[in-house]
Amino acid sequence: MQIKDLGEFGVIDLLAGIVMSQRSGSGNARSFSFNLTVDNGDDTAAWSIGSQSRPGDDRPVNELFTTDTMVEGVHFTLETTPWQDLGWKSLASNISDVASMGGLPSYALVTLGLPSETEVSHLESLYTGMMEISNEYGLAIVGGDMVRSPVVFITVALTGVMQGRPMVRTGARPGDLIAVTGHLGSSGGGLKLMLEGDSSQSDEADFLRDSHRSPRPEVAVGQTLVEAGITTAMDVSDGLGDDLSKLCRASGVSANIFADRLPMHPFLRSRFPDDCVDLALGGGEDYVLLFTGQPAKVNHVISGLPGGAAVVGEILVGEPGKITLVDAEGAETPAGSRGWDHFRPAKD
Ligand SMILES: [Mg+2]
Repeated sequence: MQIKDLGEFGVIDLLAGIVMSQRSGSGNARSFSFNLTVDNGDDTAAWSIGSQSRPGDDRPVNELFTTDTMVEGVHFTLETTPWQDLGWKSLASNISDVASMGGLPSYALVTLGLPSETEVSHLESLYTGMMEISNEYGLAIVGGDMVRSPVVFITVALTGVMQGRPMVRTGARPGDLIAVTGHLGSSGGGLKLMLEGDSSQSDEADFLRDSHRSPRPEVAVGQTLVEAGITTAMDVSDGLGDDLSKLCRASGVSANIFADRLPMHPFLRSRFPDDCVDLALGGGEDYVLLFTGQPAKVNHVISGLPGGAAVVGEILVGEPGKITLVDAEGAETPAGSRGWDHFRPAKD
């Protein structure tokens, strides 16, 4: 059997099963009173680090740890992602995972895979993008590794820190509402423009391309959600359909998404009136947050978010991970497999 036959979930289950059944414990950090709080299967791992709390706030301090890789020809091409954007985005995906737990990004290690013919000026551009987003989000690059590779790849490992309980994927319950903190599909719309060779200048086109090239992870929003008592969240990186499916699978529930409530920017609707719902569900790389909670709680929290959030669906009893899109007339279609599965053949 090959890994493509197992699919992404199957491979993750296989490897997590080996780790969980064969590891001897949660490591040497226990002897320093560190306590693993989020294990395999979430946006980041997390552990509480004992008595580091700030004065006046006795909630435990958690450290977060995540990693993410971008591979040329798989996640990006240098035609639609210039080097500077690649630098920005390689950190953005990791920052978004930290944001989804409610944390602040802190230290990054950067591993580069590079063909030896890579231009030095391109590397400098890559790091211009990395330094821009690092400084905007207050994190420090503190090391890394480099290898020769037939294609460009970038792996970032990022730590984060937070006070309080990290938001996780496992807490969604039937009856909960599902909310999304920003617009969906704008990044996918920008990529679609570029793939169509549309380099026209207009507010609409510039907005969509910028959404794809320089996504801004929602660190402050994540912190606000934790402060407001939200306990279940993740970031939308692969597309709402797939990411909500992962959250529901982790929680053992299913969900409905209401097509007419998907938060889409007017520029996405006007430029892609026929494709905007597909882009919102499966475009990916939006890096907004999705969270769930009891209706009164979610509505209260949304009213306190500076940028607001949209209720897009509800959690149901049902097959874990099953997502159904319900349109304005009540027609139902499956919506959980429109995003990116790493081992599925490429979408056309
Ligand atoms: Mg994530």
